[in-house]
This record gives sequence, C-alpha cells and structure tokens, in this order.
Amino acid sequence: MNKKDYYEVLGVDKNASAADIKSAFRKLAKKYHPDVNKEPDAEAKFKEIGEAYAVLSDENKRRQYDQFGHAAFDQTSGSYGGFNPGDIDLNDILRSVFGGGFGGSDSFGFGGFSDFFTGTSNRGKRPRKGRDTIVRLDLSFEEAAFGIDKDIELTLNDTCENCNGAGGFGSHKCDTCGGSGTVVTEQRSIFGVFQSSSPCPKCEGTGQTFEKICSSCKGSGQVKKKKHISIHIPEGVDNGHQLRISGKGEAGINGGPNGDIYLEIHVAESDFYIRDNEDITIYVPVTFPEAVLGCKKEVPTIYGNVMMDIKPGCQSGAKFKLKGKGLKVPNSSRKGDEYVIIQVVTPTKLTREQKKLIDALSETELDNSVEFKDYKKYL
Ligand SMILES: [Zn+2]
Ligand SMILES: [Zn+2]
Repeated sequence: MNKKDYYEVLGVDKNASAADIKSAFRKLAKKYHPDVNKEPDAEAKFKEIGEAYAVLSDENKRRQYDQFGHAAFDQTSGSYGGFNPGDIDLNDILRSVFGGGFGGSDSFGFGGFSDFFTGTSNRGKRPRKGRDTIVRLDLSFEEAAFGIDKDIELTLNDTCENCNGAGGFGSHKCDTCGGSGTVVTEQRSIFGVFQSSSPCPKCEGTGQTFEKICSSCKGSGQVKKKKHISIHIPEGVDNGHQLRISGKGEAGINGGPNGDIYLEIHVAESDFYIRDNEDITIYVPVTFPEAVLGCKKEVPTIYGNVMMDIKPGCQSGAKFKLKGKGLKVPNSSRKGDEYVIIQVVTPTKLTREQKKLIDALSETELDNSVEFKDYKKYL
C-alpha cells in the first residue's frame, strides 16, 4: 500500500518522453545501485526506481498506470489486471538500459554492475519469465455484447524441441571461466576502481559450452512456433479493455515461467445502436401522424424486438428508457439500459392527395405552444 507515484520516484513529469524517463533512470540507477551506494536503504530505493522504470518505459504499462494508478497492477483485480511488479527482473532492466551485457560499459565509461539481486553470478542459468505478447483482437458489436469463444493463431518463441531448450548437445564445463559463468575484472571508472564480476563472454554466463550447437534454434534454445489459443471473451467487453491469458505467452528461459498474452479488444460499431459503455441508444423514426395520434412501434433491442406504446402527441427527440436492455457489465451481473429516441420524420415526397391533406391541415389552427421546459423532459 501507500506506494509512491512512479513519476515522482523517477523525478520526471507526467508528459516525460521515453528518452527523459530512460535518462532519469540511468542517473538514479547509478546513484543508488548497491554496488556504489552503501547507505542501508539504497537497495530498497533502487528496487523502487527499477519498478517505476519497468512500468513507465513500457508504453502499454504506462498507459494502464496513467489510467488506473497503482490499481492497474493490483493482482486482486483478476484477468483485468496487468503485470505483477514483483515479476520485475532488475538485472534485465539494467542490461537493457546500460546495454552490451551486464559487464559492458556504457558511454559514461561506467563499469557495469554485479548481478546483485539474484545472489548468484551465474545469470545464464537463472530461470527467467518469457516475454509478454500483446495481440489486437477485433470483435463485432454482437460478439462483444454476448461474448464468444475465439481461436487465436499467433507466432511465439517456444522451447526448441530438438535440444529441449538447452541450445546444444554435449555440454561441458566452459574452459574460459572454469564453469563459474563469471569472469572477474578490475575496472577504473568515474566512481573509482571496481572489482566486478561479469558474465563470461564465451559461455554467456551459463558456465557450460556445447560440443555441438543445436541447428534448429542456433543455440538460443527457442524457435518461433505457430500456436493456437482458445479463449472465451466475456460478455460486454469494450474498446480499450485488455484480457490477460496467463502463462500462454513466450516460453520462459532456463525453466522460467511462460510470459502472458494480452488481448487488446477492439469493437466494431453497430449499424443500429450507439454504444456508451454498457448503455445503448437507438433512434426510432415515426411518421407525423404516428406521433400525433400515437401508435405501437416495434423497437429492436439486442435481446429481440419489443413493442412500445407511443402516446399521442409524442415529440421528436422524446427519450425512453428500456431498463436492462443494454449490455452486460463484464465480470458482473449488472446490465446497462437501452435508450430509445423518437425521431419524427418529415416526409420529403408527397403524392398530390397527401399534399392536399397537409394544405388543408395547415389552414386550420395548429397548437404549437409546447414550451421549452415541457420539451426538455424528453431530452
Ligand atoms: Zn535447439
Ligand atoms: Zn564461461
């Protein structure tokens, strides 16, 4: 609870560009990394910075955060949630920001960090979660209203079957690092001299090399595969909703869990209804005599037509509510309403006889004394 605002943590404002966010993170990461900063709260501070950066550097997560705040990632919100801040791999973030592998140096001549958070320097063997995948899902108005089972085909990185994800055959101890996965180097930097361990360049930190690299996956342990995913889309989903399919994304690395798939929902407009979240509106045309004399009208709803009694003297723009005839609210038993707006249609083509009748009517004195305050109740 009581989490600090991610923008505040990084000291940037809400409109900060991706480059601003990255640069703010770089500065703070250098300041608070526990290799550099020996203050007791440096590690906590560093984790906080890492979490803020993980969210704000990801366009999708940032959007969710801007919309819902920390609640966006509240795991109690079920499939409408996002990711779990606890899943963040700080070392991965550092690698992506400071580049060139963990031991690499960036443009500031910075010597890189040791793999502080894992308690092991053997990063190549560390299980890592597979990447998350975002897929756009187009639905018709009806599909979104009533829910539907969908089969989705996507191409994802999956474990290579040829080598079982190992990346090669005949593994043996790496002779460069003696199987430890790390090499120790001494580096001079703006912070002084560091003894830092960095992943072995030959085995990339795994401590193992292969006699033969797997030809199917070229040593990565993963290959692209077509996958079919079946998912039930709940009733009432709307534009901008996201559904998470947990654990069906890209394969994890070194036995780590699979990533997640996020379905980004896009709903087509209806030919009849105007949708406003769970409520819908429909315009129903009536003729002038129908409005004057009253009539019974068959009005469509998404659950089938209903008969509506239009009272004599009904005004154009009069609005009626059909309770519970709207869409379902996802993950709830609540339903929206349908609003029916009467539209009196002025005829544009008249027969000679009809014109005569209208002329005769106009000779009489028609009452047009409806006041605005009376009219307003219809709007
Ligand atoms: Zn392979
Ligand atoms: Zn090695």
